Amino acid sequence: ATPMSIMVGVGRGAGLGVLIKNAEALERMEKVDTLVVDKTGTLTEGNPSVTQVVTTAEFEQDDLLRLVAGVERASEHPLATAIVNAATQAGLTIPDVADFDAPVGKGVIGTVEQRQVRVGSASFLTDEGIDPSALSTQADQLRADGATVIFAGVDARVAGIIAIADPVKETTPAAVEALRAEGVEVVMLTGDNRVTAQAVARRLGIDQVEAEVMPDHKADVVMRLRSQGRVVAMAGDGVNDAPALAAADVGLAMGSGTDVAIESAGITLLKGEMTGIVRARKLSEATMSNIR
Ligand code: ADP
Ligand code: MG
Repeated sequence: ATPMSIMVGVGRGAGLGVLIKNAEALERMEKVDTLVVDKTGTLTEGNPSVTQVVTTAEFEQDDLLRLVAGVERASEHPLATAIVNAATQAGLTIPDVADFDAPVGKGVIGTVEQRQVRVGSASFLTDEGIDPSALSTQADQLRADGATVIFAGVDARVAGIIAIADPVKETTPAAVEALRAEGVEVVMLTGDNRVTAQAVARRLGIDQVEAEVMPDHKADVVMRLRSQGRVVAMAGDGVNDAPALAAADVGLAMGSGTDVAIESAGITLLKGEMTGIVRARKLSEATMSNIR
């Protein structure tokens, strides 16, 4: 590739909101046959909100929401923000937390009002010796609608579940369709539950889903696809996406995402939308055909 045509491509990209940091990313983008895409914040708005609180007989909804919000206020996870916002909107006074810990990709734990409160995935509660099964049927019903379901344990028992919805971005369906029409296989990659992930994927016509993936395994999924001879682009926004962005042939960071994600990617999509991926591919094709 001549430096001149790359410079022209980089300049045109900037005008389209596609910031190219790495010339190789621009060169490779046209050859991409597989797009691995993070769900939360990339396919979806990344601005989740609580839609339902279900409790066991021992708790009132507001009491549980208060305890859970107490722990989540110490977390910066988007799910935590949704829970704290719901408690605030319900007019609840959020109590302080002590002994806070946040195992990555699992949930949060802390002491609130002298009770040990754990909030996170069903498997997180199980790992912590709490049986979540009393609420599994209700959890699966909510997941089938595409909601993310968070379990809460208070002391030694499951106390409730919180359904959190994160709508798909308005521009996502058309962008996924355009990529598929160009022969790009789209693979959803998420730490979220399989049932929730599949409900969202089905709506978007995505048939490959890698769910319940721990943050440090996201890059392994990218490496596995590359080792099958595929040319892989990865799109994501989170701290937990950074290693996968770096492991891909082309890393695409959402401009709305975290600094680490942006630093790990060759291309940043300023608008933070999948539409930018379609643009980046067209730009790459145009640049490379100028060169040929
Ligand atoms: P994603 O890949 O969808 O961005 P993460 O890897 O950040 O997801 O988290 C995976 C799962 O861990 C979440 O779906 C949730 O069940 C649980 N989790 C992580 N952080 C929190 C938190 N602060 N509060 C509740 N649950 C959490
Ligand atoms: Mg994300």
